[in-house]
Amino acid sequence: MLSSLTARELRDKIAAGEITSRQATQEVLTAIDHLNPQLHAYNSIFPQRAIEQAEKIDAAIKRGEKPGLLAGVPIYIKDNMCTNWGATTCSSKMLENFHAPYNATVVEKLQAAGAVIVGKTNLDEFAMGSSTENSAFGPSKNPWNTKCVPGGSSGGAAAATAARLAFGGLGSDTGGSIRQPASLCGIVGLKPTYGLVSRYGLVAFASSLDQIGPMTQTVEDAALFLQVIAGHDEKDSTSWPDAIPDYLAELKTPMTGLRIGIPREYFDVEGMEPEVKAAVQGAIDWYKSHGATLVDVSLPHTKYGIAAYYIIAPAEASSNLARYDGVHYGHRTHTPQDLYDLYAASRGEGFGAEVKRRIMLGTYALSAGYADKFYLQALKVRALIKKDFDDAFQKCDVIACPTSPSVAFEFGSKGDDPLQMYLCDVFTVTCNIAGIPGLSLPCGFSRNLPIGLQLLGPTFSEKTLLRVAQQYESAHEWSKKKPGVCA
Ligand code: GLN
Repeated sequence: MLSSLTARELRDKIAAGEITSRQATQEVLTAIDHLNPQLHAYNSIFPQRAIEQAEKIDAAIKRGEKPGLLAGVPIYIKDNMCTNWGATTCSSKMLENFHAPYNATVVEKLQAAGAVIVGKTNLDEFAMGSSTENSAFGPSKNPWNTKCVPGGSSGGAAAATAARLAFGGLGSDTGGSIRQPASLCGIVGLKPTYGLVSRYGLVAFASSLDQIGPMTQTVEDAALFLQVIAGHDEKDSTSWPDAIPDYLAELKTPMTGLRIGIPREYFDVEGMEPEVKAAVQGAIDWYKSHGATLVDVSLPHTKYGIAAYYIIAPAEASSNLARYDGVHYGHRTHTPQDLYDLYAASRGEGFGAEVKRRIMLGTYALSAGYADKFYLQALKVRALIKKDFDDAFQKCDVIACPTSPSVAFEFGSKGDDPLQMYLCDVFTVTCNIAGIPGLSLPCGFSRNLPIGLQLLGPTFSEKTLLRVAQQYESAHEWSKKKPGVCA
């Protein structure tokens, strides 16, 4: 069974001629046919295109060419990244029939590295949510327990990786959307430093927070994907200009003198499950017994993180989503009375409830007379949160904390109360607010549902985060456990 291989292992076997990309791709497509009706991890699948791509890679390998870091490996992308084939829906009725005229930079990079994109995964509408229950096309299920959510917004992506319906892929993270579903589905998720990965062709939610990153079975695979997608892109003005390190080579460098910061504010939060706290504490103890020094750090403005995030993200969203008016972009109502009605009815029909809520919150926070009180105030908090991290990283190399206060919860259990859902992001939003990288990896189970350990580092410390994560991963079996619903 190929599904027991990691992306790196599969790539090596394909390169060595032990197996063809066509075989691997066919096996993944068959598994998707079999399990996707149950999990709804994918919004769209490209069987014919994927097989053609796989055959091209096989032919290139036969000719003795070196076709790239992910040559022949079947992967997915989240359905909010533009492709010049198929639809890019953002799981919204608004974009149900949107066909982008170009590829996102990450898509170009994946293809240049030989990856075979088999499909696009489900998400909360426009990436707003923590459970995929906001998808206009129905939620994804958690492969560990299909009564439970896979997290969100990249829930389809996390479910696809966990159920081995691809050898990993890309999600996007504005306030936790890579790390929280990774935690709830027992996989590795990395949100890179803001600016490390190009956002060109990622449908914008909150442009100052959005980042694309890998969602994989192992830390090594996360390094592999990051190697492929990171680096400067002149099509994204916020893209970092410096050369990127060799993440894969760095993984092999032994670690010494590691200082891990333990932020006290991340362990005493209302609603945090004791099993989550215990598992994360267990992982921290493991680091200590393997030579790390634990440092007590304080991030005092953490308690304002959710409030600041739910002003800044909706403010930016209200502006970014103005383009969906049935004229420039998106769904258009059929029988408008007049021009105003065309806009109002198109937006009314195209957007779901949560997206409308965010647009209204954001418009309010930016409106004359209120912008100072809400939006500008939130920006001040943003500066303080960033300073908290700068101060903490004077004393430590990485910070360890939980990714999510709970394991996967049941469908409908938070659906009626948006505030309950927003609290899922309590440990993840500050990382986006500060622009620093964050990684989630499995560190235990509770009620047979995975628990995630979150590692945070200063800007551009991905190589350190990956090394620290891999050290723990290689000494534990968590990543090898397979969920009940799995290829
Ligand atoms: N759950 C958060 C929200 O609803 C984060 C989403 C994201 O990172 N895209 O906004």
